[in-house]
Amino acid sequence: MVISGEHDKVYSGLEDRIRHSYRGAIEDAPFGSKILKGSRSLHQTAKQACILVGGRGTRLGELTVASPKPLLPVGGRPFLDYLIENVARHNIEEILLLSGYRSADIETRYHDVMIRGARVRCIPEAEPRGTAGALWYARAALQDRFFVLNGDTLFDINLLDLTVAEPADWMVRIALRFSSNRAQRGQVTLRKDQITDFAEKNSADPGIINAGIYFMRRELIEGLRAPTGSLEEQVFPELARRGLLFGRVYDRPFIDIGLPRDLAYANEAVPRWLTRPAAFLDRDGVLNRDKGYVHRPDQFEWMINAKQAVKILNDRGLFVFVVTNQAGIARGYYADEDVVNLHAWVASELASVGAHVDGFYYCPHHPDAADPVYNIACGCRKPDPGLILRALADWPIRREGSFLIGDKISDLDAATAVGIPGHFFQVGEDLATTVTKIIQ
Ligand SMILES: [Zn+2]
Repeated sequence: MVISGEHDKVYSGLEDRIRHSYRGAIEDAPFGSKILKGSRSLHQTAKQACILVGGRGTRLGELTVASPKPLLPVGGRPFLDYLIENVARHNIEEILLLSGYRSADIETRYHDVMIRGARVRCIPEAEPRGTAGALWYARAALQDRFFVLNGDTLFDINLLDLTVAEPADWMVRIALRFSSNRAQRGQVTLRKDQITDFAEKNSADPGIINAGIYFMRRELIEGLRAPTGSLEEQVFPELARRGLLFGRVYDRPFIDIGLPRDLAYANEAVPRWLTRPAAFLDRDGVLNRDKGYVHRPDQFEWMINAKQAVKILNDRGLFVFVVTNQAGIARGYYADEDVVNLHAWVASELASVGAHVDGFYYCPHHPDAADPVYNIACGCRKPDPGLILRALADWPIRREGSFLIGDKISDLDAATAVGIPGHFFQVGEDLATTVTKIIQ
């Protein structure tokens, strides 16, 4: 549990120094000019996400008197549960909940909890500071690149797609969507992928709006001149004027639980959206060439367009799981740890193109193993379906639309055993073409 008073003490001295040092810079800009040069740096993996959960939620009236808005129940669970689980699966290692209103409710449920591989931490602010102020207050905890998500909206995109873009001077990249009515959300003017104008909530015309997911650089937050303020009202309009704001339009499900009508819809829609079909991919012979007992990055030769194939599945909203027999462990050729390390390397390779695997499932057993730990009738060595069954138990998977791709009869038998279609894949085929045909 983090206590607000203590936290404030840690930050207050620094806050005063920073506020002081920027006094006298450009008075009307939310940040000093020389800090914001932008950068043309190429892709950098992001492992951190901040979720803004500090708002009062006044539009919901009575509902948010006794509960912070992100904790309101949707399909029987707090809305924030879904948001955290969905963010975490994108290779995210740390999630910061920037809390304020009724922070103790949020801390009790999430602080220092591991969810889907991500460590969740709460950073409660002592007083409302606005969306930019909340990030500024948390700046000591921020990594070089991080995601920011509104805690009362869900936009079901492939988060990592925001991290891959043509090189350009940038500070923030925003996930955008079309809307028939822009009155409730920030509206933007887009020229190619550059946002040339950002205006907060002032038109009822159809057009492109801010969908509340940002990919950011820490320099931006460190350069803020005031410890309070709004990203949408002050920071983004100024970034747009300086040519440092970019965005991408996505045609994916979106919901804002900020209004009672939308909250009622979320109750039914959110659990449905997040129950996804899954692509189960064999590893050796599908993602990479099967050279026999591959266990190091230098042995891992990607199949044609294999990384792109995973991204296509991510972009279309499917889960992606790797299911692989690793009898090399049972035979003593390599250790569990080697497999885990190789999969971490595979994950970083995938991240470089904006792709991710939701879970790597492997069987370390074999009937010939000398070690009794691995010499068991395990049920997870394909053709047995144990790896797929484990994924089905761990994740909200919809079987309809799920499938497996493998290069052996034993792979397809495992798929048949759980009632999903299996597809053969052979060396020389293009994996992106194969998955595109399957999901059409
Ligand atoms: Zn096994």
